[in-house]
Amino acid sequence: MGNIPDGLKRKLSSYFTFSSVKLVRKQGAIDTTLKFLWKLSDGQYVESVLIPASPSFYGEASDRHTLCVSTQVGCAYGCKFCASGLEGFKRNLKPGEVIDQVLAVETLFKKRVSGGKRLITNLVIMGMGEPLANYDNLLDALNILNSKWSANIGARKITISTSGLVPQIIKLSDQPRQYRLAISLHGATDEVRDKIMPINRKYSLSKLTDAVEIYQSKKKGSITFEYILIDGINDGVDQVPHLAMLSDRLRAKVNIIPYNNVEGLRYKRPSATSQESFMKALIDKGVRATLRREKGHDIDAACGQLRLRKEKELDSNGN
Ligand code: SAH
Ligand code: SF4
Repeated sequence: MGNIPDGLKRKLSSYFTFSSVKLVRKQGAIDTTLKFLWKLSDGQYVESVLIPASPSFYGEASDRHTLCVSTQVGCAYGCKFCASGLEGFKRNLKPGEVIDQVLAVETLFKKRVSGGKRLITNLVIMGMGEPLANYDNLLDALNILNSKWSANIGARKITISTSGLVPQIIKLSDQPRQYRLAISLHGATDEVRDKIMPINRKYSLSKLTDAVEIYQSKKKGSITFEYILIDGINDGVDQVPHLAMLSDRLRAKVNIIPYNNVEGLRYKRPSATSQESFMKALIDKGVRATLRREKGHDIDAACGQLRLRKEKELDSNGN
C-alpha cells in the first residue's frame, strides 16, 4: 500500500499479521503432488498437500485441485501406523490457521489462475490431526471457506475424514451443511481395528456404523471408507466379507490405499500382488472400491511425515 506513511506501516505490522502460517518447505513429487510445511506463530509445524486432478498441472489449466489440510498439531488418537500421533497431541488449530492453509496456497499460485478464479476447488480434511476432535474450530473454518463471500468451496466438495468419533458424527449430522464424510476404517472387524486404532475400544464398529447410519438418514450423498492396506495386519482376504457387508449396509464407497511406510514404524506396505488380490476379492463381492495409487509416496505425503522429519532435524541440531 503506497498511500500510507512508513511510520504507520511499521505500527500496523507490529499489531497485525495477514497470515498465521508461514511457508518453510515446499516439496513436489514427479507426479505433481505438492506438499507444504507451515510454521505457525508459536513455532509449531503443520502440513498441507495439493493434489491436482490431472498430472499435467504445470502450465496447463486443470480445473480440479484438492487441498488436504491439517486441523491439529499432532494427534491424541494414537493409531499405531500413523506418523501424526507419534509424538502425541500438541494443540488444536484455530479457525484462521485452517483457513490460512487454503489462502496461502491460493496466494502462491495466484498467477496460474486467470479471470479471478480460484485454484482450490475441493478440500479434504485429512492432514494432521483428528478433525472432529476440534469440532467447533473446524466448523467455523469450513463454514467460512464455504461462504459465497469467502473461498466459495461447495460443501459437497469438502470431505471430513474421521477415525470414528461417534458423538461428533451425530453432531455433524445435525448441522445444516452437506459436508461429505469419510471414515478411516482400516479394519472390518473389531479384532483388527482394536489392534491398530485405540479409538475402536471406545467406539466399536457397531457404535460407529449406527452413528454413520444416523448421519446418512439426514444427509444426501454417499460416504467413503478409507482402508489403508498394511502388510499382514489388515490385508487378509478374510476381511473382505466383513468389509463388503459394512459397505453394503452403509452404501459406502471404499478407497483402498496402500500403506505409506513411516520411518521408525514396523508396519509395511503389502506387495502389489496382495494389494491386487484384496481388490479383486472386493470387486467380486460387488463392492464399489478403488485402489488409490498413493500419489505422494515419494514426498512423504502420508499425514504427519514431513513435520516429523522437521522435528527430528530440529532435535538433532539441538533446538
Ligand atoms: N484423523 C483423521 C484424518 C487425518 S488422517 C482420520 O484418521 O481419518 C487421514 C488419513 O490418512 C486417514 O485415513 C489415516 O488413517 C491415513 N493415514 C495415516 N497414516 C498413514 C500412512 N502411513 N499411510 C497411508 N495412510 C495413512
Ligand atoms: Fe490421528 Fe487420524 Fe493419525 Fe489416527 S490416523 S493418529 S486419528 S491423524
